[in-house]
Amino acid sequence: MNSEIRKDYLQDKYALISPRRGKRPGDEVSCPFCPQGLSTQLVVKTYGKPWKIAVLKNKYPAFTTQKGGVYGRQEIIVETPDHKKRLYELPVSEIAEAIKVYADRVREMKKDKRIKYIEVFNNSGASAGASKTHEHSQVIGMNFVSPYLQDKTEKEHRYQGTTGRCVYCDIIKKEEKGLRKIFSDKNIFVFAPYASQYAYEARIFPRRHLDNIADLTADERASTAFALKKILSAVAKLKVPYNFYMHDRTTDADQHCYIKITPRGAALAAVELGTGLIINPVAPEAAAKYYRKNF
Ligand SMILES: [Zn+2]
Ligand SMILES: [Zn+2]
Repeated sequence: MNSEIRKDYLQDKYALISPRRGKRPGDEVSCPFCPQGLSTQLVVKTYGKPWKIAVLKNKYPAFTTQKGGVYGRQEIIVETPDHKKRLYELPVSEIAEAIKVYADRVREMKKDKRIKYIEVFNNSGASAGASKTHEHSQVIGMNFVSPYLQDKTEKEHRYQGTTGRCVYCDIIKKEEKGLRKIFSDKNIFVFAPYASQYAYEARIFPRRHLDNIADLTADERASTAFALKKILSAVAKLKVPYNFYMHDRTTDADQHCYIKITPRGAALAAVELGTGLIINPVAPEAAAKYYRKNF
């Protein structure tokens, strides 16, 4: 069957039903992201010679630009040819290059006017630090915007309407002197959010009110790469898997972009699944303190 977006019987909750066809990546004998395993049919673009970063088509896409299925685009970004290196183990300059490629792909995807939502994300795997899979991130673009995101955008606009200011610019100002601040320089601000849903959740914001990571300057990318390296290295020490992501609603040109890092230490307990209330066992103030020590 093709992928489908299905709505809950009653609530505004959606699921993307996307059965996988054929073999799964884990089943493959040789690594498809190593230079010798790279399939030329899947390569969209490579950066550097020999390549340092490769952009590939997703062999198992949940989205399609063809008729039938859920409309969208999907790419894989392999940040290093080295099978054993994690992103945070790369030098800051190479992480900054990866961020530049993320931006490049977002810009490219935005050219498709049917795409309403773009997300760049990275899943660290089952056990961070000990993962056997080759480091990579994904970019997805889809024409579906979930009620959750729509609601978020409406609230951002409402705040802007009543105060005349961006809520995130205000949050940065507010958190600047607080206990949840992790790191800042002239380009970026890093903190643990007040109502973090995940233990050790962190966000990296550019200080400038930028709509999109594609608008970061080289200097801002360098600061972002430095912070991302520090945060992910500290998460790796906790030996928990993590995700990080950045997203963009293409129809809104006035967002304040950020990178959200969510370690996934605790499995969802039944109470959380039942009530939607997330239980976070680590106070964001303590998380910030932990990160500050590791910067
Ligand atoms: Zn590999
Ligand atoms: Zn802002």
